[in-house]
Amino acid sequence: MTMQSVLSRVDTETHPLPTPRDHITSERTRSMIRIQQALLAGAREALAREGAVELLHPVIGPVTDPGSRGAKQVDVDYYGNRYKLMTSSILYKQTSLLAFDRIFLIAPNVRLEPIETSSTRRHLTEFHQIDVELAGATRDDAMAVAERLVRHAVATVVDRHSGLLESLGRDPEVLSAFAARPFGRVTHAEVVTELHRIGHSQSTGTEIEWDAEELISSTANGPFFVTDYPKGSRGFYDRENPEEASRLLNFDLIAPEGCGELCSGSEREYEYAKIVTRMRETGENPAKYAWYLDVIRQGIPASAGFGIGLERLTRWVAGLDSVWEANAYPKLPGVVSP
Ligand code: AMP
Ligand code: MG
Repeated sequence: MTMQSVLSRVDTETHPLPTPRDHITSERTRSMIRIQQALLAGAREALAREGAVELLHPVIGPVTDPGSRGAKQVDVDYYGNRYKLMTSSILYKQTSLLAFDRIFLIAPNVRLEPIETSSTRRHLTEFHQIDVELAGATRDDAMAVAERLVRHAVATVVDRHSGLLESLGRDPEVLSAFAARPFGRVTHAEVVTELHRIGHSQSTGTEIEWDAEELISSTANGPFFVTDYPKGSRGFYDRENPEEASRLLNFDLIAPEGCGELCSGSEREYEYAKIVTRMRETGENPAKYAWYLDVIRQGIPASAGFGIGLERLTRWVAGLDSVWEANAYPKLPGVVSP
């Protein structure tokens, strides 16, 4: 495909990117960066309270997270070996629990997302996750930590930067009210039933489509969790529900106001035989994962964890139109940029 044909499919009408100079020097971007800094400070403080240790993240490795919804991985020539840029830190998060019971990383990820996602206002090809993993935790424990983290990060921003929020047209009181309510919970099956009731097509066995997710997000009265996604919609590491093998013990956190998914998490598969089976079922070749499987074979703790998209969280908190505004050097799928 030529660059021209790529660009013609990118929705630059609704998402014109400013020049790098205009973007980084604009008041709006500068306010966003300060808000993002407070979000990160709040997140780190919340995670310190939970007893989590911060690790630095690998950027390249022989293999990376395969479970990323149609996105392509980026290869790197590593002394004649084909390495990957990290699409997520999941493999390292699990193995890091051999050192500490609770860990987190603020990790950059690169995913060549399908060009269609350039118009979702939720997709970048380079973004960051607040990545957390908790040994011995259940899905409920992980959801509770994610809820406390988001609530504290939002409170930190409102506390330090209510003036900046107002300058961006974001009412700090509205934001505080969202974060004050307990986050709701629905299952994937309940979401599908509701979508069908309002005449929206959605398959029972797959991820919730982008437009449907935006719909349920725009009618919500606060952040809420969707749980129990069907098997087949996620990677091999989301643990199967032992009582209902077609469902995974996982969750997404959805932001209100049409912003959609902020976070995905789950209880993890951690037993060698089970992981190999799940890899095969999801079309992954276990031989590629040699270093990871060697560690798993000798035993790792059971765990649960999650990853919060930092730019997505910033977009919602700052009330930005699109996720690209939440990155100093945004890269949209299909758009050639610095
Ligand atoms: P995932 O493991 O794919 O659910 O990614 C974890 C989190 O990272 C998501 O819940 C999003 O908040 C964020 N995220 C994933 N993909 C992207 C993307 N292409 N652009 C921006 N944020 C993303
Ligand atoms: Mg997700």
